[in-house]
Amino acid sequence: MPIDLIIFDCDGVLVDSEVISCRMHAELLTRAGYPITADQVFDRFLGRADIESNREVERELGRKLPDDFDTMLKQAVLDELAVSVEGVPHIAETLTRIRQKICVASSGTPDKIRTSLTRANIHERLAPHIFSASQVKRGKPEPDLFLFAARQMDVAPERCIVIEDSIPGIIGARAAGMTVLGFRGGAHYLEHPASAPSAETLLRAGALVTFEDMRQLPAMIDKIAIGATL
Ligand SMILES: [Mg+2]
Repeated sequence: MPIDLIIFDCDGVLVDSEVISCRMHAELLTRAGYPITADQVFDRFLGRADIESNREVERELGRKLPDDFDTMLKQAVLDELAVSVEGVPHIAETLTRIRQKICVASSGTPDKIRTSLTRANIHERLAPHIFSASQVKRGKPEPDLFLFAARQMDVAPERCIVIEDSIPGIIGARAAGMTVLGFRGGAHYLEHPASAPSAETLLRAGALVTFEDMRQLPAMIDKIAIGATL
C-alpha cells in the first residue's frame, strides 16, 4: 500500500514537552502544599486526566486544591514551553527528509501546539497542517482526530502512518485503520526507562514496531511503502 501521509503526535514525538509538563505540575503541587518531585509526577500522573490526578491529591491532602489550579497549571506549562521546550533529537532534519505529506494530530490545545512547535523551530515546516483534539468531538483513544486529519489532508486512512508515543494515541490511530509506529526516543522515555511504557506495551496496543531514533524514520516509511519487512 502506498503511503501518502505521515501524521505526527506532538508531545513526546515532535517536542520534548512531557518533561516540562511534569516539572511544572510538580512545582505547582508543591506550592499548593503537596510536596512532590517531577519524577514522582511522571510516575503517577503523566497521561492521566487532570481531574483524576487532582482527586487523588485532594484525598491525600484532605482538602481541595485551589479552584484555579488547572488553569494556573496550563498557563505555567505554556509559559515554560515558550521559553525552554526543545524538539526531540534530529526531528528538524527528519521532517525535511520525509517525501510524503506531513501533519500534526495532538491532544494539546492549538495554543500549546503552536507555542511548542515555534520554540522548537519546526512550526513553519508543519503549519498550517496542525490539528488539535479541540477540533473533534472525541479525542484519543478514539479515532476521530486521526480521521479528521486524514480527511483534511485528503488521504485515505490506509495510506497514513502515525507516529505516537502513548498508548491512547496508538489505540486511536489503529482504530482509524492506520499503521502506527511507536516512538520511544523522547526525553520522558530516556529519563524514566522503568516507568515509561515498554516496547512490548506499545506493540500490544497496536504499534507495528517501536523505534528510539528519529533518523531511522524515513527509511522505515520507505520500507512500509514497498511492503518490505522492517
Ligand atoms: Mg504524545
